[in-house]
Amino acid sequence: MKLIEHLVAGKAWRGKSERTADIINPALGKSIGKVRLATKEDVDAVLEVARKAQPKWAATPPAKRAAVMFAFRDLLNKHMDELAQTLSEEHGKTIPDAKGEIARGIEVIEFACGIPHLLKGEFSEQVASQIDSFSIRQPVGVVAGITPFNFPAMVPLWMYPIALACGNAFVLKPSERDPSVPVRVGQLLQEAGLPEGVFSVVNGDKEAVDALLDSPHVDAVSFVGSTAIGHYIYSRGTAAGKRVQALCGAKNHLIVLPDADMDKAVDALIGSAFGSAGERCMAISVAVPVGEDTADRLVAALKPRIEALKVAACSDPNSDMGPVISRQSLDRILSYIDQGLEKGAKLIVDGRSVKVSGHEDGYFIGGCLFDRVTTDMSIYKEEIFGPVLAVVRAKDYEEALQMVNDHEYGNGTAIFTRDGDAARDFTMRVKIGMVGVNVPIPVPVAYFSFGGWKRSLFGDHSIHGMEGVRFNTRLKTITTRWPSGIKEGAVFNFHSGH
Ligand code: NAD
Repeated sequence: MKLIEHLVAGKAWRGKSERTADIINPALGKSIGKVRLATKEDVDAVLEVARKAQPKWAATPPAKRAAVMFAFRDLLNKHMDELAQTLSEEHGKTIPDAKGEIARGIEVIEFACGIPHLLKGEFSEQVASQIDSFSIRQPVGVVAGITPFNFPAMVPLWMYPIALACGNAFVLKPSERDPSVPVRVGQLLQEAGLPEGVFSVVNGDKEAVDALLDSPHVDAVSFVGSTAIGHYIYSRGTAAGKRVQALCGAKNHLIVLPDADMDKAVDALIGSAFGSAGERCMAISVAVPVGEDTADRLVAALKPRIEALKVAACSDPNSDMGPVISRQSLDRILSYIDQGLEKGAKLIVDGRSVKVSGHEDGYFIGGCLFDRVTTDMSIYKEEIFGPVLAVVRAKDYEEALQMVNDHEYGNGTAIFTRDGDAARDFTMRVKIGMVGVNVPIPVPVAYFSFGGWKRSLFGDHSIHGMEGVRFNTRLKTITTRWPSGIKEGAVFNFHSGH
């Protein structure tokens, strides 16, 4: 049985805590190891190391900092298979899906490789007589990252390649449910040549998070996770004077207009609602067909596709969908299905009876499809975070748009149509951070920025891309005037020596 410790200066560090949590393989429903849970004193000790290491790293030329990122990228590519295997064992997602998330994380490292260019400031000469002005971006200091279970590789990599490239030290507190990959990736970062102490991983739960939020040695906090915890982190972190970005929960709608390519819309829904067992903040959990005929065609096409999904452990190469993360998660999803039935929604595909042979204790559930869902139901209002797709029928386009805009979450949405005018109107008027047109999961590439609106993001900055550079730096504007001096009466020719 493995025991995952913290990672400080590239080495396992035990700290003083006696507390640990089980790491569960969700496909087996049994513990495969333990992770150390830090105390406040442990967190303070790690922060002290980060605080001491940061000034020298900030003074390192950006091109040298970028060189570490180039090496880091190569190491992640080299270790892709090993990382994906560990990730799938602890998370449950399929191996191709695990590789996909690592690849998306690597793209952020590639963006961070361009940091010398990205940090270039602005300069204006002669803003007043003899006066020039320029602005530069300097690191904020020590940045803490608190990340969710559902992307143990990608979400930390949304944060620290840019934070580090900007000259900050970074302390990562990954999810305690699948901590092995974040720690292993941290070792590879050290191997890439990062100076000791600039990056650490501290494992833990609420106690560790609270210690990060309260410490005067943390200047900024990046959080990704659920809305309840994100709101708490934003409130407590900003009250302590820190810069906080908190990316939170979602309920993403996909609108299908009557003229949409139905095959494409169905493909999109299958991948985005059931991939990774629906445990993605950009999963589509609500389909909104416009008009009864569109709805009937959509439900008829979805039903056989969902029934055909292969639910299996990541060890099965034909698996479309693995287990959900925990027994508690499975129970929560089952309870939502009961609530939907009680309120009169029609369960068209019931995945509750799915069994995976050899994995009887695993947290498996098959894909579920509800039709005739209405906006007052909990299965519509709340994030289920499982493989449950709700169909809410809209009478027309305006009703569909209004539905998306009225929802408390504002992470992602998509529209499927062949009509450019309808698509344009949607992209302009919808109150959502990331919008797709005939694209199911509109996750921005690394050089754009990722982030929702409304209760899907607290704080001002989205993550990665230029927003990431802004979040991880403070702007300084300098105004200069130089008195006349040496140039008056000075001799500029070379001294002849005679
Ligand atoms: P979570 O909120 O339970 O946990 C996230 C982090 O917060 C973990 O590191 C956890 O240890 C910590 N935490 C948990 N409870 C805490 C508490 N009481 N006090 C302080 N810290 C606490 O989220 P999760 O279940 O790991 O992840 C799923 C959620 O993340 C979903 O809601 C999903 O939508 C969201 N998510 C959002 C995005 C996005 O970009 N918007 C991306 C991925 C996941």
